[in-house]
Amino acid sequence: MSATDAFPARQGRVVIDALIAAIDQHAELLSEIDGAIGDGDHGINMRKGFLLARDQLPAETDLSTGLRTLGDALLTRIGGAMGPLYGSCFTEMGGACAGVDRIDAVLFGRMLVAGREVVADLGEARVGDKTLLDTLVPATDAYLASLEAGASFADALEAMAQAAEWGKDSTRDLVARVGRASRLGERSRGVLDPGATSCWLLLTAMADSMQGLLAADDRLT
Ligand code: ADP
Ligand code: MG
Repeated sequence: MSATDAFPARQGRVVIDALIAAIDQHAELLSEIDGAIGDGDHGINMRKGFLLARDQLPAETDLSTGLRTLGDALLTRIGGAMGPLYGSCFTEMGGACAGVDRIDAVLFGRMLVAGREVVADLGEARVGDKTLLDTLVPATDAYLASLEAGASFADALEAMAQAAEWGKDSTRDLVARVGRASRLGERSRGVLDPGATSCWLLLTAMADSMQGLLAADDRLT
């Protein structure tokens, strides 16, 4: 573990840019997946919200402001199930790190829990219902368990990304019990859930960008 095992909150733009790039680059894939069990708009909606947020962001922004700007764009400008869910998720994550100078592993754990809780409260879905919670819940649990076992911030992020991938993959065999796809019943089985897939992309981008910031900070200290 490094001396500080944290990165400066003022470098938040790096993380936000990674999130925007992940959605921008995979928007077609997300809409294609949504087309199989929904209305095919997931990638288009997400890209619209993330690009709107990019236009509103100053060149340098702390992580809290960046996440709350993203949350606000999704909450106020994007329809569908995901606008309010992801919008609230990012807003809560941003609120959990407001006013801090450095983002450390324990704080990021609190941010993840805050995001997960608001999604579960608002959507009233559970793990196994074929939603983004099938990615977000195991990813958060793996992150916290890894820290508890003594892992570094970077290694806990790796555990989070790995669990996010498994969680996303688990949705393939599930029947949707909430949202638009639930109308298909058994026919929703056999394809990935679009929200679980976007959540995996976002958590992977978060892990990669934060690992990069941690490594850069390590070289300075
Ligand atoms: P819409 O279904 O309105 O077209 P999107 O296509 O943007 O919205 O998003 C669909 C995704 O929303 C699903 O793949 C699922 O992960 C997620 N979702 C839908 N309803 C809920 C819910 N109640 N709780 C959590 N996630 C949900
Ligand atoms: Mg849709």
